[in-house]
Amino acid sequence: MLIGIPKEPAPRQTLVAGTPDTVGKLVKLGYDVCIETGAGVSADYADEAYEEAGARIVTTEEAWGADIVTCLSRPPEDKVALIKRGATLISRLNPHGDDEFFPKLADAHITALALDMVPRLSRAQALDVRSSMMNVAGNRAVIEAANTFNRMFAGQVTAAGKIPPAKVYVIGVGVAGLAAIGTAVAMGAQVSATDVRPEVADQVESLGGTFVEIPVKQESADGYAKALDEEQQKLTLAVYTEQCAENDIVITTAHVPGRKAPLLITAEAVAKMKPGSIIVDMGASRHGGNCELSVADQVVKTDNGVTIIGYTDLPARLPGQASQLFGQNIVNLFKLATKEKNGIPTWDMDDEVIRGMTVALEGQIMWPPPPVNVS
Ligand code: NAD
Repeated sequence: MLIGIPKEPAPRQTLVAGTPDTVGKLVKLGYDVCIETGAGVSADYADEAYEEAGARIVTTEEAWGADIVTCLSRPPEDKVALIKRGATLISRLNPHGDDEFFPKLADAHITALALDMVPRLSRAQALDVRSSMMNVAGNRAVIEAANTFNRMFAGQVTAAGKIPPAKVYVIGVGVAGLAAIGTAVAMGAQVSATDVRPEVADQVESLGGTFVEIPVKQESADGYAKALDEEQQKLTLAVYTEQCAENDIVITTAHVPGRKAPLLITAEAVAKMKPGSIIVDMGASRHGGNCELSVADQVVKTDNGVTIIGYTDLPARLPGQASQLFGQNIVNLFKLATKEKNGIPTWDMDDEVIRGMTVALEGQIMWPPPPVNVS
C-alpha cells in the first residue's frame, strides 16, 4: 500500500510526519511511500534525502490521495476532501474537541486512527506521540530558559572568581518534567523538583535532582494527578512561592487530565522573585497556564525583572528531532499492524491499543473507545 506524507498545512508547523530514516523503515515493512515536495524542508530534510530512502516526491494532491495518509494534526477541510474513499488517516485528531469531524470521516469511508488517543499502556509507549512531544518540549523549555538567562548554567571556579550554578526548579514531574530535569542537570545546573505524586521522588533523584516535599501527597493508581481542593491549593502555593524566590529558573509542567492547567505561581509569587529570574510555563497553552502572569506564545517581562516564557510550540522549535521521534512512533504503529512485513496493515480491533486510537473504521464512528485499564 502507498503511504502519503503531506506537507503540514498549519502555518506555524515546522514538523513533518516522517524523516528519511523513518521512511526507510516503512519501506522495509513493505510499503510504498510518497512525500509532498518540500514537506521536510522546515525540519532540514531535503526531497533528495527522502528519495534516497526510497520515497517518491509528489504533489499535494498525490500525497493526500495515498492509501494511507500520515500527518501531524487534524487536517483542514480542503485537505480532507483530497483523501480518497476507503483510505486511512493517521494523525493527532484532537478527539475531545467538537464534533462534526468524525461523522464526516465515517461518511467518506475514511478509517481514522488518532495518535493522540494511544492508550497509556507500557506496551503502547513506543507509539505515544504525546510522550515524544512532551519529551522534546521539556528539553526545549530548558534551552529557552538558558538562552534568556543572563548567567552560565554550570558552576565554575575561575581565576576571576567563583561562579555559582544556576538553580532550576521544576514543578510537575511527568514526561516533560523529567526531560527538563535531565537537560538542566546535564547542563550543570543545580536542579530540584516537586510533584503531588510522591512516587516520582526516586526518578528525580536518579536524574541528579533533589525532590522538594510538598504538603500534598496524592495516591495515584493510574499515574495521573487529581485536581487539588482549596486547602491543598493554599498549602502548595506557599511552597511554590518560597521556591520561586530561591531559584533562578522555574519550569512548570503541571497538568491534570481533562482540566484547566492548575495555578502554581501567583502574581504575588512572581513579585517575590529575583530580577533576572525566568519562568517557563509549559502549561501556557492550557487555558491560562500554570503562572498567573503568563501569556500564551509570548514572553512577558515583569516590572521586577522576571521573564515569563509562554511558548506553546516548544517541539516545533526542535523540528528535526521532534519529526524523527514522531515518525518513529508511526513506524512503531506500522510494525504492530504489519507483522508479515508485506505493506498491508491489519487494524486489529481486538488489540486494545489499536482499538483505543481508532475513531472511524470503514464507514462507522468508533469514538469514544471502550475504557482501557491503564497500568
Ligand atoms: P501530565 O502532563 O498529566 O502532568 C504533568 C505532571 O504534573 C504530573 O506528574 C502531575 O502529577 C503533575 N501535577 C499536576 N498537578 C500538580 C500540582 N498542583 N503540583 C505539582 N505537580 C502537579 O503528566 P504525564 O507526562 O502525562 O505523565 C503522567 C503519568 O503518566 C506518569 O506517571 C507517566 O509516567 C505516565 N505515562 C505513561 C505512558 C505510557 O505508559 N504509555 C506515557 C506517558 C506518561
